[in-house]
Amino acid sequence: MRDYVKEKPLIIEEGNGCTLRDTDGNEYLDGVSSLWTNVHGHRREGIDRAVKTQLGKIAHSTMLGLSNVPAIRCAKKLVEIAPQGLSKVFYSDNGSTAVEIALKMAFQYQQQAPAGDRAKTRFISLTNAYHGDTIGAVSVGGIDLFHATYKTLLFSSLKAESPYCYRCVFGKSYPDCGLACLGQMEELMKKHAHEAAALIIEPLVQGAAGIIVQPPGYLKRVRELCTRYNIIMIADEVAVGFGKTGTMFACEHEDVAPDIMAVAKGITGGYLPLAATLATEKIYEGFLGEYDEFKTFFHGHTYTGNPLACAAAVASLEIFEEERTLEGLQGKIKHLTERLESFRSLKHAGEVRQRGFMVGIELVVGKDTREPFAPAEKIGHRIILEARKRGLIIRPLGNVIVLMPPLSMTTSELDRLCDITFAAIRAVTEGL
Ligand SMILES: *Cc1c(COP(=O)(O)O)cnc(C)c1O
Repeated sequence: MRDYVKEKPLIIEEGNGCTLRDTDGNEYLDGVSSLWTNVHGHRREGIDRAVKTQLGKIAHSTMLGLSNVPAIRCAKKLVEIAPQGLSKVFYSDNGSTAVEIALKMAFQYQQQAPAGDRAKTRFISLTNAYHGDTIGAVSVGGIDLFHATYKTLLFSSLKAESPYCYRCVFGKSYPDCGLACLGQMEELMKKHAHEAAALIIEPLVQGAAGIIVQPPGYLKRVRELCTRYNIIMIADEVAVGFGKTGTMFACEHEDVAPDIMAVAKGITGGYLPLAATLATEKIYEGFLGEYDEFKTFFHGHTYTGNPLACAAAVASLEIFEEERTLEGLQGKIKHLTERLESFRSLKHAGEVRQRGFMVGIELVVGKDTREPFAPAEKIGHRIILEARKRGLIIRPLGNVIVLMPPLSMTTSELDRLCDITFAAIRAVTEGL
């Protein structure tokens, strides 16, 4: 906070396409989609219009005991595009709550569903995981910087080692490792199957930990293990959902259908806060009963399923259909891959990771030792300030420079994104 006050805070006033403008009239490329949310660019006509039209009808009405038109239309669209079997939608208003809901839903299901198991009360989560900032979400988190302070406040979760191949805790390298991390996960499941209610995972990419990309086949095996040990699989698609990895949802890459799926960030195209937790018919049925059995899922946020937000979400999904966003994206992903190749030549670029439009460039003191830069060096922060001077907004994760452009970013804008990032990294690290 001291640094923030010392440096002149940047205040955004306007945006258009992939460009942001500050209160002094300076323009910047939006290199992280306004924190991983924006999908089709700013001021998209279809979404602007949908929100304005909805404003002419009603801005908000409660979903507690009632429903509203955009919420129903949005739920229908979500179910149509979701992985197989996810047919029920429970709304909330941010990623953390979508995760809290997923956890509580899995827990309550085990407690009361005829097919549940009351002894199953614990969660399996991954090291390096990030699922949000509320206490339940922090309990299944695995990033010490964000989570360690609250340790005594949290419920304990069972930790499976994440496949962070660049810093493999087993000292192995892919593919010769035979996915040793999955061996550890299976051991954990075997030992705790009697008490493990659910596993939660960020499919394909652990975002907040530094865009850690999972090796091919990993997610599919996790799904198989969950099925074998009768553990509910929760996919946290909050970061990776809505095209970020190149498919609508990351689970599609490995043909995986989770039992519960949390979505937020990109759901409204980056316009308004909205989230949803999707579940299978089987999970849903665990909550059916007579009034006085109280099998209801007692969880509801005041602005749940807000009509303006749902109208924006429907409009965003319509753009996906009308403009065939995902088809057009494939060539741009390849272009980005080609452009990132040159980053490997940078002296301090330890690893350049990419999955679709999610990129992490991990900077190290030396490529041979892979030693991380000390926090006091503020490497990431200094680089993003250099990028800002050159007209690009990005936000680092410690020593990892993150790029996550809106899916609508053009090839020439992608070139500018890469050029500026490259120059900014060089400017800060060249003399080190
Ligand atoms: C951002 C994020 C969340 C939390 O979402 P908020 O809307 O910030 O509460 C949860 N899970 C993942 C994977 C995220 O990236």
